[in-house]
Amino acid sequence: MTLLELKDITYVVKGKPILSGLSCSIAAGEVHALLGTNGTGKSTLAYLVMGCEGYRPTSGNLVFEGRGINDLKIHERAQLGITMAWQEPVRFEGVSVRDYLALKSREADTAHYLEMVGLSPDLYLTRMVDKCLSGGERKRIELASVLALHPKLAILDESDSGIDMLSTQDIIHVINRFKQNSAAVLLITHREEIALIADRASQLCRGGIVCSGSPRDVAEYYKSRKCLVCVGEVCDA
Ligand code: ADP
Ligand code: MG
Repeated sequence: MTLLELKDITYVVKGKPILSGLSCSIAAGEVHALLGTNGTGKSTLAYLVMGCEGYRPTSGNLVFEGRGINDLKIHERAQLGITMAWQEPVRFEGVSVRDYLALKSREADTAHYLEMVGLSPDLYLTRMVDKCLSGGERKRIELASVLALHPKLAILDESDSGIDMLSTQDIIHVINRFKQNSAAVLLITHREEIALIADRASQLCRGGIVCSGSPRDVAEYYKSRKCLVCVGEVCDA
């Protein structure tokens, strides 16, 4: 079943097209890797799907579970089950990890979400979500909170969300937890070894999807077209 469809999305900022005619779909429960060099519009795509302030398609349609969501605000999309791990990991002075997770979950006992991201509940539930935690620890706690929400779609923008504070093995472990929770994941990553664990992958170039398919095929395309050094001018994609 299709969960999210991006239909012919164009996004223009100050007269500059950032995405143009982009179409792509993500199935329920699918881990979909999005590859692309810097500046191709990956984060912009993530913000458009999440519905961040100022990010509305100039034309085209975002469809979630068969419903047009172009006009929905970020919290309305969150209520539908779309969520994102943010660029700067959380930090709240005076809020314990236990309370922070309780805010995000309908369940009373959230300890197992910490275990899912490799943190011992005994050591972390009573800690404060403040500057005493390292960036990597806060990132793990944020990912635990995203898991606790039981989203239908989790957007993980590795280059921006700081999940590159975690090792490849850690990220693969967390993605597998999302899979077990039947969440779809839009995984934006530069690391081929991470993309390879996805069910499907797409390559973004010059504002549109130029290749979709198995992660192996798309990663091969990425390398063979020298997309790693693409400046958006010389590639014949
Ligand atoms: P990626 O995440 O693939 O590195 P981004 O989505 O961050 O790329 O950016 C894509 C392009 O859009 C870049 O050229 C960037 O400079 C430009 N861009 C992004 N946001 C804005 C904005 N608010 N105003 C103008 N240009 C923007
Ligand atoms: Mg980015």
